[in-house]
Amino acid sequence: MTNDRTTDLIHRSPLESYTPFAEPELLDKIQSLAAGLKGITVQHINSTYIGGGVAEILLSLKSIMCSVGLNARWDVIKADAKFFEVTKSFHNAFHGGKLNLTPEMIDIYRTTARANLDIVVPDADFVVLHDQQPLGLTERRSGHQGKWIWYCHIDPVRVDARLWEFLSGYAGHCDAAIYHLAEYAKNLGHRQFFLPPAIDPLNEKNREVTAGEEQEVLAKLEISRDLPVILQVSRFDRLKNPFGVVQAFLEVAKEIPCRLILAGGAADDDPEGQTVLEELLVMVNNNPHIKVLNLAPTSNLEINVLQRAADIIVQNSVREGFGLTVTEALWKAKPVVATPVGGIRRQVLNEETGLLAGTPDELVQCLKRLLNDCGLAQKLGLSGKEHVRKHFITPVYLYNWLIVLHRLHYGEEDNSADLRT
Ligand code: UDP
Repeated sequence: MTNDRTTDLIHRSPLESYTPFAEPELLDKIQSLAAGLKGITVQHINSTYIGGGVAEILLSLKSIMCSVGLNARWDVIKADAKFFEVTKSFHNAFHGGKLNLTPEMIDIYRTTARANLDIVVPDADFVVLHDQQPLGLTERRSGHQGKWIWYCHIDPVRVDARLWEFLSGYAGHCDAAIYHLAEYAKNLGHRQFFLPPAIDPLNEKNREVTAGEEQEVLAKLEISRDLPVILQVSRFDRLKNPFGVVQAFLEVAKEIPCRLILAGGAADDDPEGQTVLEELLVMVNNNPHIKVLNLAPTSNLEINVLQRAADIIVQNSVREGFGLTVTEALWKAKPVVATPVGGIRRQVLNEETGLLAGTPDELVQCLKRLLNDCGLAQKLGLSGKEHVRKHFITPVYLYNWLIVLHRLHYGEEDNSADLRT
């Protein structure tokens, strides 16, 4: 029995609706690749419908795969708070955090996986396990006729050695792995594909908004635009370092009057958010120029409007798999200042599509530069948008996915030049 509940969450845009953003040749190639895969079942499995980049990706990926004739579905494992505490500690240990991997943790992980084994569609042509939380489902791999893919959305380079010994046993049962970047490859002896994710220019978070919608949302959120606005959108997570953004803002505001908005929310599979939010509120100490918004999971239009209303968008992550918030910000032609980590480096090309700030002092200097130089801010924003249009929007992502599915389905050899990365 599976639990695909995504029908209500997903908006459907036929491939033709992407014509304003994608070259006609790309759309043609998508149609012909999709024709060869018509009707195949692709089951995506992750650990939450709500919150974070993977849920964001799956919303549009499932929809666009269906719209070109694949039978794509999205199921979520059922798990309790203990499991998510374990997997959040695994997540942090992927990003280089310390982990004391105990037999109890292993037991919680295995027990949850075994309780979810029935989620796997027996005759799926592809089973795609997103991130580490559902990897235990590979216990169902043996005897299953489909191809299994592990899709690693985070930066696994510094993963804790013992944790990797445990999880690679599961990941290695898959027929292939997908990583966002080539430098993330874990070389498990199966096929590997590298494709960065994408944003959907047509969904509620990225579509154009009307002036009326903008005004309404800003009024509802009590956002004042009397001064330049600096924004960071992220789950309240230490790895997104909102504390560093506050420090930089306080420094900048001594010289240039401005406002800061930190917008975030919870993800079902992230139990640390509340603690980080509370610590942040203590640090902000009711500063009237700083607004911390704890948004509901459905706040896509709100995030869209905030990103469009901001003068500068920051992404101060300590680690980042890809960083869809950066893609979203660039798509809105905003000047972005971000740390040079993970997939951010593919998006923010320093001085070309945004500014990279590797230290707290550099962050302050970049913010001041952009606040003082509207021409630079505008130029970076426009080339950032074009960079996203070429590389990181849904049609490009779908095309890459179809290539991967084709190769695995028909046993074709790799020809990396086919992928548009
Ligand atoms: N997001 C959201 N509400 C929030 C915070 C983030 O909808 O309160 C979205 C954000 O717009 C982006 C995704 O969650 O689409 C975050 O993806 P990213 O890759 O930046 O980071 P992750 O959360 O996966 O580490």
